[in-house]
Amino acid sequence: MELFPTLRRPEEKEAVRFGDRALTYPELAAAAAGVAERVGGARRVAVWATSELETAVAVLGALAAGAAVVPVNPKVGERELAHIAGDSEPELLLAAPGFEVPAALAEVPLHEVDLAPGGELPAEPDEEQPALIVYTSGTTGPPKGVVLPRRAIRANLDALADAWEWTAQDVLVHALPLFHVHGLILGTLGPVRLGGTVHHLGRFSSAAVAAELAGPATMLFGVPTMYHRLADDAERDPELAAAVGRARLLVSGSAALPAVEHERISRLTGQRVVERYGMSETIMNSGVRASGDRRPGYVGLPFDGVEIKLVDDAGADIEISDDETVGEILVRGRNLFTGYLNRPDATAAAFADGWFRTGDVATRAPDGYLRIVGRKATDIIKSGGYKIGAGEIENALLEHPAVAEVAVTGQADPDLGERILAWVVPTAEPADADETGRELAEHVARLLTPHKRPREVRFVESLPRNEMGKVMKKALG
Ligand code: ATP
Ligand code: MG
Repeated sequence: MELFPTLRRPEEKEAVRFGDRALTYPELAAAAAGVAERVGGARRVAVWATSELETAVAVLGALAAGAAVVPVNPKVGERELAHIAGDSEPELLLAAPGFEVPAALAEVPLHEVDLAPGGELPAEPDEEQPALIVYTSGTTGPPKGVVLPRRAIRANLDALADAWEWTAQDVLVHALPLFHVHGLILGTLGPVRLGGTVHHLGRFSSAAVAAELAGPATMLFGVPTMYHRLADDAERDPELAAAVGRARLLVSGSAALPAVEHERISRLTGQRVVERYGMSETIMNSGVRASGDRRPGYVGLPFDGVEIKLVDDAGADIEISDDETVGEILVRGRNLFTGYLNRPDATAAAFADGWFRTGDVATRAPDGYLRIVGRKATDIIKSGGYKIGAGEIENALLEHPAVAEVAVTGQADPDLGERILAWVVPTAEPADADETGRELAEHVARLLTPHKRPREVRFVESLPRNEMGKVMKKALG
């Protein structure tokens, strides 16, 4: 089955726009064919994934040639880059003109993507062939190369289109990086597969998003930190809020969108954000449908073609749907990766009877709606014999006006096993940190049972986040 029918039979309409540079479908198809000719029979191709038009062309061209694409974060540190280069062994490197070759990639033949048109696109590769090798964020360990076949991308994009009523008429706006599933598969390959349009902003700004949504754009894909900024700016600027309110669909993912943030956006713009849950290994697992109940804090139902189950620590299925019983999320379906590159050990460990173990923990409501509680590795705090999800405590703290951002961690404690620690970025520098700390303690005491209350609050200027806005909890003491 064709992955990009719209490139094989291109229609005269805008396909991709990055800032003020855009390509129509015929232009995109021709430029991709040009790249495909250069890629030839190369099996693995690295793409220096800047937020530029050339990156989209490079990825589509290499995919058309049947190569597996390794998108590389251009801001990646030398050490990580050396790891990715050595692990993925690309035969060719594609980059936008003006690129400075880092030492770790000096040996790889370079082609500067120039948008020059080529001839015909090569024949469609086999569906089970690797299409992308995406490196995970490294939130919980060294990044792993996730091998995604073309089939997973096609099946998942079609499921998203179905859930979100996403069509060729939609103009998607976003500012997501192009080296992760979110910005690359959903944000770039998605619109092109559907024959729609994508406007990439290069850099996120609320004003640019609002201008797009007041104009041609119908959908926004963002991460929670972007929605946080949108809400802050909408608070100050009613016109901006009204523009955002004109969107057909606002979608959030990559990390949990706090319920307070969801409510704030809704109050200010009249838009209820749709949340979805996914990861490099599985693309998208679940989400709220366009026509579904947009409940704050929930990541909806499994997408078409995805099976989800919750299991307890012993690996036994949890049948209860009471919105309270927690279990690890296991996933099966056409959306799954085929394995971690060069890591048979990690691949084997990640599967149980054909089910992929996500490492994420959730509850299931009576109607099947999933609520992510956190990651098994960093968000489940074992304190005083209880298993406590950091997210619930974070959400409670975020309800207090003095709290702008928060991350809750467990710190080794001889008595409790772990003691709960809250790292708080205050909305304003507290005049008296002890006093504010006491206020927060009283606040959580009204919301949380005693064993869930933080033992200590530490005020910090910012939280360590990666480029997807995910808090790197390992970097917090
Ligand atoms: P690594 O696997 O290297 O530790 P990572 O898991 O952060 O890094 P990704 O595959 O980019 O790398 O991120 C997937 C993770 O992001 C999921 O496993 C989940 O923990 C989190 N996530 C994604 N969407 C949501 C969401 N809507 N709510 C809560 N968490 C989410
Ligand atoms: Mg992961």
